[in-house]
Amino acid sequence: MSELAYPYEAPASQALFDRAAAVTPGGVNSPVRAFRAVGGTPRFMVSGTGPYLTDADGREYVDLVCSWGPMILGHSHPEVIAAVQDAVSRGTSFGTPGEGEVALAEEMVARVAPLEQVRLVSSGTEATMSAIRLARGFTRRSKVIKFAGCYHGHVDSLLAAAGSGVATFALPDTPGVTGAQAGDTIVLPYNDLDAVREAFRAHPGEIACVITEASPGNMGVVPPADGFNQGLKDICSENGALYVSDEVMTGFRTSRAGWFGVDGVVPDLMTFGKVMGGGFPAAAFGGRADVMAHLAPAGPVYQAGTLSGNPVATAAGLAQLRLLDDAAYAKVDAVSKEIQGLVTGALTKEGVAHRLQTASNMFSVFFTDRPVRNYEDAKTQESFRFTAFFHSLLADGVYLPPSSFESWFVSTAHDERAVQRIADALPAAARAAAEATA
Ligand code: PLP
Repeated sequence: MSELAYPYEAPASQALFDRAAAVTPGGVNSPVRAFRAVGGTPRFMVSGTGPYLTDADGREYVDLVCSWGPMILGHSHPEVIAAVQDAVSRGTSFGTPGEGEVALAEEMVARVAPLEQVRLVSSGTEATMSAIRLARGFTRRSKVIKFAGCYHGHVDSLLAAAGSGVATFALPDTPGVTGAQAGDTIVLPYNDLDAVREAFRAHPGEIACVITEASPGNMGVVPPADGFNQGLKDICSENGALYVSDEVMTGFRTSRAGWFGVDGVVPDLMTFGKVMGGGFPAAAFGGRADVMAHLAPAGPVYQAGTLSGNPVATAAGLAQLRLLDDAAYAKVDAVSKEIQGLVTGALTKEGVAHRLQTASNMFSVFFTDRPVRNYEDAKTQESFRFTAFFHSLLADGVYLPPSSFESWFVSTAHDERAVQRIADALPAAARAAAEATA
C-alpha cells in the first residue's frame, strides 16, 4: 500500500520516525511497532490517560493495545502513579534485596496456587529463558517442545517455529540463532496432543519440558482446545518432563490467577510479565518449590539480574495487582464482551467473513470463515482486510495492534465514552474491510 492509501497525515510522528531511523534499526525498539504489517506511519505516543493515548500530532486514540497487555487499569492510574512516585522518592535501584520484591512475590504466590516460589526478572524473555534453563538443569535433559505460533520472547532456542508434522526438528527462524541453539527444540502444531505423544515416543528420556502459552495470543487469540493443557500436563508427568505454562500475556489478565484461574491445570513451572509489572520492566518465573530449589544460590542452576526486583518496578506491579480484585476483572470482562459484540456486529452487517476468538477478556479477529485452531489456520486469513480495517479505525481515533496476529487488550478504564468512540468508528472500518482487495 502506498502512503496515499492513508487519507490523513501524522507529520510529527513521521518526523520522529525519520529521526529514529537514523539512530535505531528500523526506527523502533521492538519490530511490531514499526507498522510493517499494515504500512503507514507508526504513531509516536506522548501520553496516556485511562483508555486513551495521545500522539505527537496531538490526536487522541482509544487504546486497544494497552502496551500489549500490561495496562489493565488503563494509563496513568492514580494509585499506581502514586506508588511509583513514593518508590522513586526513596531511590531507584539498590542492588540489594528489598521489601517490595518480597511483597510482590507474596501477592503472586497468594493468587496462583501452583506458584510456590517465584524469582523476579526484568522481561518475559528472561523469564522463559530462565525457566527453560531450570527445566533442563532439573531434569538433566536437553530437548524442549514448543508449538508453532506460540511466542515466548526472543530466546534463541525458542525462536523456531519451522516445520509442521510430527517431531520436526526446528530450523532457526532468524539469522543469528544457530542450528545448535535451535536443534534441541521440537516444534509441533498447536492443539495436537497426538503430535506431542509421538514426539515423546521418538525421544524417550530426552525431553526436559513442554513450553506453551497458557492460552496463545501471539498468533491472534487461539485458545487451547478442551483438555489440551491437561493432556500436556499428563503427558509430561508420564514422561518425567516438566510442563511450563507461559503466562506472560495471560497472567493476572485473564483472571485473578491468570489462565490457571480459568482452566485449573497445574503447571510445574510458570512464567509471568506484563500485568505484574504495572507498566514497568518486571517479570517472573516460578512454580514447584522442589524445582525452584535448583536455582542459584539455593541450587546449581545459575540465574541473576542487576535490576531484578527493582524497587520502582515492583512498587508499580504490586500497586496494580492489589487493585485487581474480582470487581476489576468483572469490569474488564464486561467491556471486552461489549466491544467484541460491536466488532462482530459491524463486520457481519457488511458481510465480512470473520472469526472473533476469545480467551477470557483477550480477543482478536481473524478474517476467515473457518475456526482457527493453530498457526497454519491463522495464516490462511485474509490479512489485507485487516490492513484496511486497521487504518480506518486509526483514522477515526481507535488504536488496534498493527498486525492481524495479535491479541487486542482492554482495561478497567474503557468506559462508555471510549466504547462509543469504537462503536462510531466501526461501520466505516467494516466497510473498508469488505471493500479491501489483496
Ligand atoms: N511470552 C509471551 C506469551 C509473550 O506474549 C511475550 C511478549 O509478548 C513474551 C513471552 C516475552 O516478553 P517480553 O516482551 O517482556 O520479553
